Amino acid sequence: MDMLHSIWNLSDQRDLNRKQDRQIAATDSSLQGAQQRIRDLQFRVGNLAATCQALCNLLVEKLGVSPEEVQGAIEQTLSLSAVSASGTCPSCNHPFDQGRTACLYCGFKPSPDVP
Ligand SMILES: [Zn+2]
Repeated sequence: MDMLHSIWNLSDQRDLNRKQDRQIAATDSSLQGAQQRIRDLQFRVGNLAATCQALCNLLVEKLGVSPEEVQGAIEQTLSLSAVSASGTCPSCNHPFDQGRTACLYCGFKPSPDVP
């Protein structure tokens, strides 16, 4: 009876090990997929950064826009994106009703031509 019990336990242990091996393989596969997606996104962000830099260079070199004007436009666009995305003022973080022209709390004014 003890011998049968031991064989039964070994069989159970083998099944458990196989199940754990399958779970590890599935986790590895999922991790590799996530790592590949991160590499793809890093590549795309790098391309976008290079494209933005090239466009900024063209603005400065061909159209005479100052680097400070380019930087100001970038910062304004980022703050407007923050208002749209969060519904909060990028300056003071209070709620910002999109229909308003200025923040009630700090006076921050997003550009009127952006929805
Ligand atoms: Zn504010």
